[in-house]
Amino acid sequence: MSQFYDVIVVGAGNAALCAAISAREKNENVLVLEKGPSNKRGGNSYFTDGAIRFAYKGLDAIRRIIPSISDDEASKIVMPEYDAEDYYQDLMRVTNNKSEPSLARQLVYKSYETIEWMSNNGIKFDLIYDNQSFEKEGKFHFWGGLPVKIANRGIGLIDMLNKRVEEQGITVWYESPAKKLLTEKGKVTGVVVEKDGETVSIGAKSVILACGSFEANTELRMKHMGEEWGNAILRGTEYNTGDGLQMAIDIGANIYGQWSGCHSIGTDFNTPKVGDFTKPGDIFKKSSYPLGLILNKDGKRFVDEGEDLRNYTYAKYGREILKQPDYMAYQVFDSQVYPYLRSEYKIEETTVFSAPTLEELAEKIDINKSQFLETIMNYNDAVQEGEFHPSEKDGKCTKGIEPPKSNWALKLDQGPFYAFPVICGITFAFGGLHVNEKAQVLNVSGEPIEGLFAAGEMVGGIFYDNYPGGSGLMSGAVFGKIAGNSAAEYTLA
Ligand SMILES: Cc1cc2nc3c(=O)[nH]c(=O)nc-3n(C[C@H](O)[C@H](O)[C@H](O)COP(=O)(O)OP(=O)(O)OC[C@H]3O[C@@H](n4cnc5c(N)ncnc54)[C@H](O)[C@@H]3O)c2cc1C
Repeated sequence: MSQFYDVIVVGAGNAALCAAISAREKNENVLVLEKGPSNKRGGNSYFTDGAIRFAYKGLDAIRRIIPSISDDEASKIVMPEYDAEDYYQDLMRVTNNKSEPSLARQLVYKSYETIEWMSNNGIKFDLIYDNQSFEKEGKFHFWGGLPVKIANRGIGLIDMLNKRVEEQGITVWYESPAKKLLTEKGKVTGVVVEKDGETVSIGAKSVILACGSFEANTELRMKHMGEEWGNAILRGTEYNTGDGLQMAIDIGANIYGQWSGCHSIGTDFNTPKVGDFTKPGDIFKKSSYPLGLILNKDGKRFVDEGEDLRNYTYAKYGREILKQPDYMAYQVFDSQVYPYLRSEYKIEETTVFSAPTLEELAEKIDINKSQFLETIMNYNDAVQEGEFHPSEKDGKCTKGIEPPKSNWALKLDQGPFYAFPVICGITFAFGGLHVNEKAQVLNVSGEPIEGLFAAGEMVGGIFYDNYPGGSGLMSGAVFGKIAGNSAAEYTLA
């Protein structure tokens, strides 16, 4: 082997770059291998809205990472504390208590120190005023444990991480997919990589896999999640085809977590079939459904649109849309909630139908008209009295219909009316590898495979059934930082 590195990191998304930066704190010699070309760099992380969930003790903690918040701005902000236990409880609640406690605790208890570490490494953050706060009597009230995003979303994150990687002199090879892990006497000793049309073996004291799960692999999706997943569109990168999982499995790693589950959402009917690197920033999602109704082509509702705040239901409703006729549905709103719809509903890429009456709207869309009108009439009859608060769980609900609408149940009766057709977009697969708290990859006997670490989507066992918004980036950063540190320490031992 002509080339040798202390640490090789496979992938160049958020988890991988955090791992590389962290490893470089102790090791001189770090190589990043990325399958995609440099103009498609950043993986799923590049496509994100940049929303990042972490535990914080009130506004002071937020101001440490967003020092630009002035005293004047701060005086207009109400920022309830969201401590690690709140985050842990949210994670456990939405995953039906299936999240592996030790990994879940690493994620939530290390979240704030990791955010500070990112900040110290040049990552900039902003408050999410538009979708995560509401204005009341001149003050902005933040809600839902998700007040912060990365400046300029995923695009900014990947630019800032790469800037730091460059500053630290870390080598990055693009168009260089890792193909195989090299081992000697059970220890990982390097990676086989395809570079410039050649297959080369690169030696390493340790390897960190951070190259995504298998969401971009239609065959694996259908195998593990069911045939219908062949009809979901891919919201992010085309390169996360499960290569790292297979390479690890081939040397005895244990698979872990919910391989039949994934994060998937309702996305615009005309969303590109695969993440388009010229249209990043998560512009196609459609997340204001708690304010309206979702109906399938048969004219029937099929979820409780108001079950919880959007942050806690959006990632599980994609799969419900996939179960509907022709794998699609319509989100329907009236003019009284239209002003509250998120910005993604009002951009030129949005697919929308509108009409002054529900009858006319039904004529414009492909739906069972009589059932559509009957469903909405029954819903309107079931709406209970109560005060409507668009940005907090208001308990304004329906009675006597199935499924119910548990919050934000306003009558849908004020034209003009709007229908947004949506399909299922898969974000990432929940299935991954078994790692311990040090991000060491475990074999089928539960023992660490020497020299092998994993981070990001490749970590199985944290997300099951559902997901608290903003946790993918946080998990990637927390386990990326841990993996980098563990790999570096291993090389120095
Ligand atoms: C549209 C969209 C919006 C999202 N919004 C948010 C959000 O606002 N907040 C949030 O927390 N999460 C969000 N997510 C989820 C988030 O993107 C992921 O949880 C997270 O980015 C995963 O990071 P990662 O580093 O593990 O994977 P990725 O960022 O996908 O990086 C994996 C990298 O590995 C590379 N790779 C794959 N195979 C190989 C190989 N064989 N050799 C070398 N390299 C390889 C890929 O090309 C890719 O660059 C969103 C996802 C999408 C798609």
